[in-house]
Amino acid sequence: MVVYSFLTDIFWLFRIYLVYLQKSKEKNMKADELNILIEFQNCNHNYFNDELPFPNAVIRHSYRTFGYFRCELDKNNNILNPTIEMSDNYEYTEAQFRDILIHEMIHYYLVFTKKDIKCRHGKEFKRMAEDFNIRYGLNITPKIDVEPYKIRKGKSKFMFKLCTFF
Ligand SMILES: [Zn+2]
Repeated sequence: MVVYSFLTDIFWLFRIYLVYLQKSKEKNMKADELNILIEFQNCNHNYFNDELPFPNAVIRHSYRTFGYFRCELDKNNNILNPTIEMSDNYEYTEAQFRDILIHEMIHYYLVFTKKDIKCRHGKEFKRMAEDFNIRYGLNITPKIDVEPYKIRKGKSKFMFKLCTFF
């Protein structure tokens, strides 16, 4: 019995060690212009056949909006000045960062291909998001729950609560 419990302990310690290893491998990412553009290039290649031209990358300091896509249109609805914004108030895991970016890239793609120039979370958006989620194991959703996201050090949780309240 003593041997059994000793082995169980070792087994559990080993499991905890594996989880620790996995966690320490999860790199945190901060939104800055360089990270957005590097990750944009990767995602454009992996998920959009390199079809999207490089956008402007802009940093926001927002608690409520993680990502935002904006652009202008000429009179033939051709896209001008595509811009992807991301909030630098959070520390993202690589997966969170990628999912937010791809969410905005789907909006970009739909405007670029003129399938939805109004950036809605309509049928086209949902179809693409679902397709990506199934095909690539991503987690693209129309809305993002703030709860699991980590606020970056030095950013105030109190301010966050105020922002949420108002
Ligand atoms: Zn959206």
